[in-house]
Amino acid sequence: MIMSSRIDRGRTAITRLPEYASADREALDRLLDEQIMGHVGLVRPDGYPVVLPTAIARDGDRLLLHGSTGSPWMRAAASGAPVCVQVTAADAIIVARSAFESSLRYRSAVLFGVCESLDGEQKQAALDVLTEHLIPGRTREVRRPIAKELAATLVLALPIAEWSLKVSDGWPEDPESDIAGDAWAGVLPIVTGYGEPAAAPDLRPGIAVPASVSQLTQAP
Ligand SMILES: Cc1cc2nc3c(=O)[nH]c(=O)nc-3n(C[C@H](O)[C@H](O)[C@H](O)COP(=O)(O)OP(=O)(O)OC[C@H]3O[C@@H](n4cnc5c(N)ncnc54)[C@H](O)[C@@H]3O)c2cc1C
Repeated sequence: MIMSSRIDRGRTAITRLPEYASADREALDRLLDEQIMGHVGLVRPDGYPVVLPTAIARDGDRLLLHGSTGSPWMRAAASGAPVCVQVTAADAIIVARSAFESSLRYRSAVLFGVCESLDGEQKQAALDVLTEHLIPGRTREVRRPIAKELAATLVLALPIAEWSLKVSDGWPEDPESDIAGDAWAGVLPIVTGYGEPAAAPDLRPGIAVPASVSQLTQAP
């Protein structure tokens, strides 16, 4: 998959295997919509970089993040610190005829930007988007957030504007000398899915698994 994405040739220009670069915004959106987790990187006030996992949800042309108001990285991002968000799907192991050529099929996005901190109705709506992304239908099954919970939560929106997407979807690329040998080569798909729901130890008897959770466990 060969294309060049980006709004500049700076931060998002891929050096190694640039033929894996994709400019396909729909492919980016698909990846962001499939994944529930990303990694946020920023430089802390003490000068050290930090990369932390967090829930993500795409809302049109922005990526939503949320967390505690007590979290230093969230506060830094809310105050305008530039961030980098990385989202990956590992799709398969490419089993080559040598260790050197073995690798992964993957789709991986890197987004740069400055987050906007959301308030009021925008904040509530963004929290719903985050919840619905994780468990579709759940916001209709549970109570609304109370003021104290909202006050304890920062909600950030990163514009999806400066990004790169790298897609590895090929086969082993072994040299002729290895192809002539006896080692097996191919692709081993990585399959992820949900298991059986386990009720909370303190769940009162008689409360059934909700539709939102059942739907996830039945999803292909
Ligand atoms: C699951 C997974 C496993 C990987 N394992 C390895 C490994 O073991 N060793 C290894 O060397 N590489 C691995 N990669 C690839 C790795 O992410 C880099 O692409 C690679 O190291 C080459 O980086 P570069 O020098 O081109 O990046 P740089 O030139 O340093 O990056 C410049 C810009 O290119 C873009 N970019 C670079 N890589 C990616 C990417 N993966 N996705 C989206 N944008 C990107 C970013 O915008 C970045 O700012 C893996 C990728 C994935 C998704």
